[in-house]
Amino acid sequence: MKFLDEYRDPTAVRRYVRAIAEITTRDWTIMEICGGQTHSIVKFGLDSLLPDKITLLHGPGCPVCVTPAELIDKAIEIASRPEVIFCSFGDMMRVPGTGKDLLSVKAAGGDIRMVYSPLDAVRLARENPHRQVVFFAIGFETTAPANAMAVMQAKQSGLKNFTVLVSHVLVPPAIEAILSSPDNRVQGFLAAGHVCAVMGYTEYEPIAEQFRVPIVVTGFEPLDIIQGIYLCIKQLEEKRFEVENAYSRVVNREGNRTAQRVMGDLFRVVNRKWRGIGEIPASGLGLKEEYKEFDAELRFGVAGKKVEEATECISGLILRGMKKPPDCPAYGTKCTPEHPLGATMVSSEGTCAAYYSYRRLAPLGKSESQRQKNG
Ligand code: SF4
Repeated sequence: MKFLDEYRDPTAVRRYVRAIAEITTRDWTIMEICGGQTHSIVKFGLDSLLPDKITLLHGPGCPVCVTPAELIDKAIEIASRPEVIFCSFGDMMRVPGTGKDLLSVKAAGGDIRMVYSPLDAVRLARENPHRQVVFFAIGFETTAPANAMAVMQAKQSGLKNFTVLVSHVLVPPAIEAILSSPDNRVQGFLAAGHVCAVMGYTEYEPIAEQFRVPIVVTGFEPLDIIQGIYLCIKQLEEKRFEVENAYSRVVNREGNRTAQRVMGDLFRVVNRKWRGIGEIPASGLGLKEEYKEFDAELRFGVAGKKVEEATECISGLILRGMKKPPDCPAYGTKCTPEHPLGATMVSSEGTCAAYYSYRRLAPLGKSESQRQKNG
């Protein structure tokens, strides 16, 4: 396929693998932020091509996976109300809250619609003036502009029956939280190309400088990822700690100013809870005061709801790069995509789902804890 095959060229990938082996002199640990990158790495076996000295850790960049159980429970409470049409992207349907998931609410008669765009939800609000239409607005900086546009459109149309349940999260504070952790092992990052397409990469420059870590803006195809790893290792070996753009066909330094302006008009930065990780200061987006009439948490009185996360699932450790799925006792036994205990086994970008899809039947490589044990 044009524009795709060239980034899956095995010869070019092998050239980079050889170049990585030539420049690597010691152990390095790199984290890819985005779940889409994790899936490419696991699907194409890119980690197995790398020298033993290089460890790839999988980061928290799957929006479904980091949406806290608390928000899922709020969604379930709202979606269970008879006057509500609850709209969500499909991959949120099976994410477990503390008790059930949205799919079970739908099975019990809840009016839950899977939509492909927030504007579908705005249209439903127009078509159903006597119902309350709620859109589950989750995601990183990538989906925030479209969700902001939907609220803007609802306001311009004078819709009084449209609200959003917001769970937007931001990448740079998550990177800072990982790097600030006393048990951090990450020495370099592959930043998520699509997030940087919206936000640019100026926010990452002070992080690279302060924590002395290379950050390489990276795409999602095998060649993109192997090139990102090469550039990251090269910087580490040369003791350089900069932000480098390996995805220049999509990303520029400033990002999409129009999208940023729309986000800035609607959202403010708030503290946000991450599933399995806890609250990270200034790591999320919430509606600004002047748009609070569109806030589903306020309209349906669920803002104060607090719940405890399940302790059986270790996805918080996986999302911080401290464990890998095979390290979880429930992986592939009590927890499968059909019966998930955690969000990382549900989402199409989840690390546990990636391992289960592509590695379940293959012999598993050394798991992270084994690696550590064996030195
Ligand atoms: S395998 Fe299941 S229980 Fe274990 S960390 Fe992954 S999602 Fe959680």
